Amino acid sequence: MSNSFQNFNLNPNIIKSLDVLNYNVPTPIQSRVIPPLLNHRDLVIKSKTGSGKTAAFSIPIIQNIKWDKREPQVLVLTPTRELAIQVKEDMFNIGRFSRIKVEAVYGKSSYESQAKQLKQRTHVIVSTPGRLIDHIENKTVDLSQISTLVIDEADELLRMGFIDEVERIIHFLPLERLTVLLSATMPTDIEKLSNLYMNNPELIVIEDDELTENKLTQYYYEVEQKDKLKLIDDVLIIRNPESAIIFCNTKQAVDDVCEMMDEKEYLVHKIHGDMEQKDRLKVMNDFKHGLFRYLVATDVAARGLDIDSVSLIVNYDIPYHAESYVHRIGRSARAGKEGLAISFISNRESHYLDQINTYTNHDIMMLERPTQEVVNQAFEVFQNRQTSDLVIKMGKGFEFKEEIMKLHINAGKKTKMRASDIVGTICAIPGLSAKDIGVITILDISTFVEILNKKGELVFETLQTMPIKGRLRVVSKANKTEYELADEANKTLE
Ligand code: ADP
Ligand code: MG
Repeated sequence: MSNSFQNFNLNPNIIKSLDVLNYNVPTPIQSRVIPPLLNHRDLVIKSKTGSGKTAAFSIPIIQNIKWDKREPQVLVLTPTRELAIQVKEDMFNIGRFSRIKVEAVYGKSSYESQAKQLKQRTHVIVSTPGRLIDHIENKTVDLSQISTLVIDEADELLRMGFIDEVERIIHFLPLERLTVLLSATMPTDIEKLSNLYMNNPELIVIEDDELTENKLTQYYYEVEQKDKLKLIDDVLIIRNPESAIIFCNTKQAVDDVCEMMDEKEYLVHKIHGDMEQKDRLKVMNDFKHGLFRYLVATDVAARGLDIDSVSLIVNYDIPYHAESYVHRIGRSARAGKEGLAISFISNRESHYLDQINTYTNHDIMMLERPTQEVVNQAFEVFQNRQTSDLVIKMGKGFEFKEEIMKLHINAGKKTKMRASDIVGTICAIPGLSAKDIGVITILDISTFVEILNKKGELVFETLQTMPIKGRLRVVSKANKTEYELADEANKTLE
């Protein structure tokens, strides 16, 4: 089957990654963004969440990376750590066969290990503004060769008050560069930012109705605060979703809802801004992989995160900003799937509903509260689902495992191991060339090397008896599922 991304004259290694990711046809935003970015044109891109913006900028940027250059060339700024990790994974997957090294730099994770990683060859840095400034001040990051800047989720960066940090960072970057700004909405502050720091950018807007038809159904209930806990339970029972995210405005409400559901032994976890980074990551990862059904969250989780097919979104509290509403419901009905969004609105909050209706140009329909009889009838089916097995989802990186084997070598910087030693040894194996070697990561006492093109087994076997840098080394298979790796990453943060 041919891949229509080929029409952009992309490098075969990128096409190969896209094939594995099952990206066969560009989304509308990708068709409009890839050609001008390949030609180094500054762009301001507005299109709704879920339209494929990450790949839209990543594909051309990865194609233009100069692999041999040691200093970082691409900087992507994102508002949250979760998003930084997600963009890192997406770019890594797309650049995998091009051997592109992507590092995520974000707050509350080990500063030292990030500084160390940055010292190695890194092509792309994905970062939240605060932590990047720490690295700049401590001179643990070199931004002198950045030739591409991406400001992702610009509206959110501004809304979270990162504007000063973003501007400070820009002042550290070379003037001669490509700048790309992406946003789901276009407040005037963003226009200002683009006028100041971009070079005659082209504005690319994909209106919502240009996208595939909206398969999201939206309803609201009128409900007083004191009745919400009962209503959320009823809604879950009658709708009986495979998975759901329940958004609250406060940490207190998150705790209350989670506690109620916990008591009923529903498979529920929560996420909010006061939690430790490693706990947040673990919850997000587990939810993404379908290890539990219901996530109760504040807006921390709403933005940009690519969670597949959440069939139900509940706004336990109606958000006070219409934009937050759009971001929250954007977690459902992704990539053409169907979805349902239900909002709880109390009497005195009806003006928020009006604002949302105006902003989205869509009248959310009101539902009558379900009667106890209806709830009782639905209960048995609901109960069956609670006790049935969860559908475990594999991450996108998973398909790569066939093609790629990651090897662990028991030697590293302390024993003066260098990437060239590894490459030299592997290329000396009959049938192997540099093209079969993926990302090499050298740590203090261990080295990871990815072997591409299904040649992992051969290299693994050979290295059992073939010395590297004059000595026989312990070489083992390091292939893990994306989930195991994320879990390990969490542990190292402790
Ligand atoms: P946005 O940044 O616009 O919110 P994302 O970049 O997160 O959107 O992409 C949304 C989802 O669509 C992701 O799951 C991504 O893997 C998927 N996707 C992106 N491009 C394609 C494509 N060309 N074909 C199929 N799926 C795609
Ligand atoms: Mg995005």
